[in-house]
This record gives sequence, structure tokens and C-alpha cells, in this order.
Amino acid sequence: MFIPSSQPQPSATTGEQPNRCYLPVSNGQLLCSDDVPWGPLDASLWRFSNPQLDAPQFYLGDYRGQHCYVVALRDLPDVHGHHWQGLRNLLGLLDEAHYEMAARALQVVNWDRDHRFCGRCGAPTESHEEERAKVCQPCGLQFYPRLSPCVITVITRDDHCLLAHNPAFPARFFSALAGFIEAGETIEAALRREVFEEVGLNVGRLHYFGSQAWPFPGQLMIGFHAEYESGDIAIDGIEIEEANWYRYDQLPLVPPPSTLSGQLIQAFVQRHQSG
Ligand SMILES: [Zn+2]
Repeated sequence: MFIPSSQPQPSATTGEQPNRCYLPVSNGQLLCSDDVPWGPLDASLWRFSNPQLDAPQFYLGDYRGQHCYVVALRDLPDVHGHHWQGLRNLLGLLDEAHYEMAARALQVVNWDRDHRFCGRCGAPTESHEEERAKVCQPCGLQFYPRLSPCVITVITRDDHCLLAHNPAFPARFFSALAGFIEAGETIEAALRREVFEEVGLNVGRLHYFGSQAWPFPGQLMIGFHAEYESGDIAIDGIEIEEANWYRYDQLPLVPPPSTLSGQLIQAFVQRHQSG
């Protein structure tokens, strides 16, 4: 349904340019219809309601045979029959393809906003003709949308898993451990380091589970189950306020399955329920 590309392609069958559809974004929020689930607006509706005709647009990919563009609006303008919402509020309401499209839209707009000038020489950047990149003509540096890889893990020990409470979480809410991968580090080394720093444990075998775009603002979450190896829980007291082993059928309040942490926990529970 959604085919990403940095440039629009003509229709394979007719050679014609398909219709356009639009995803308006403003201040990190998405324009949502008051009546139907979130998705792109078709061109006729968008022309009728567009309060900022000069707003920058970026091609996102093919959406149901239409060319889909994100439109970067200023200051959350009023659009009749619509309201603005952050993507976090839409978690669990969007299927995977729509979530991916929303994540891409937000990250492309951030990239445009944050790379107007070259970080090396300070000259204004220009859009690359073929790739999703900005180019500094004087010094040749290119800027692609910035992704920040993060590792996220649920540590398992027989029928128990380790979940942690971060001071920023709501009360009694526990989740997987997560942290940014540092420059020069492998994913596996980052996971072992984060686990040891946050809860003082050593983990053994790692089992890759899956990944999720997390555009708040540009993380790519890379999820693993990690087998406990040695050590006693010793929390760092900063990022982690409390961490405990929980049996699969006695879990505290955990993230929903629309998040990768929720999926990691759910998969662990299902493995023990089934056998
Ligand atoms: Zn430059």
C-alpha cells in the first residue's frame, strides 16, 4: 500500500503522473479528520482547506496509487472538520503501514527544519535532485534524515522477565530497558552496556526480535530478548528507579502492543502461556 521512494515515479502501466494526496504536519503533530481514521487527504479536499498554499512539500511515497506528500505547515492552523494530534496519541489506532507513513512524514519535516544550513561551513543547503538529502554546494557535505539507533531489551530468566520503572513513567508502570547506541559501538555491545549500567546484570545469549521507527524525534528501536547470565539487580537510580523480576502471569502495568517494548513483553508471555 505504501511504497517509499525519495522521488515520485510515473505510473508503471500508463506512464502518467498519478493524483496527489497530502499529509499535513505542524509543530510535530498530524492533521486528523474529526470523522474518519487518520490518513492522507485527497487533493480536492486539501486544495479546498489549505490555509498555507506556500508551505513546503516533500514526496513520501505511493499511497494506494497516489503520490503522497507531507506538507509542513506553521503554527497548527485551523482546518475545518479536522484537529491536530501527536503520533503518540495515535499509537494503537494505526496499522503498521499508516504508522510507518506517519513516522516518515514527521521525520522528513524535522530533517528539512534542522538542516537548512551546513553544520561544517554554515552555507545554506539545497535539496539533492534525486536522493532524500540536502547538499551544501560550497563544501559538498550532504545531510540525510538523521536516525538515532536505540537498543531495547527484555531480559528473561526462565519464566520471569525483568521490567524497569523510569522516573518519567506514570506510577507503577514498568517497561523494557532501552538506550542509545554510541558511536563506534555494535548493537550487541550497546545492549550489554546499557543492561549493566542500568540494572547491574550481565546477559548471555541475545535473540533479535524486531524493530520499530520511533520518531520522537528520530529513534530506530531495535528489540531483543536477552537471557540472564549473572549478577544481582543494582539500579542506577537515575534512569531506572526500580527494576524487578516478574513472572509471565504476574506482570505490572506494561506498554501496549502497539510499541516494540509491549511486543517484546507480549511475545515472552505468549511463549510461556503456550508451553
Ligand atoms: Zn558546507
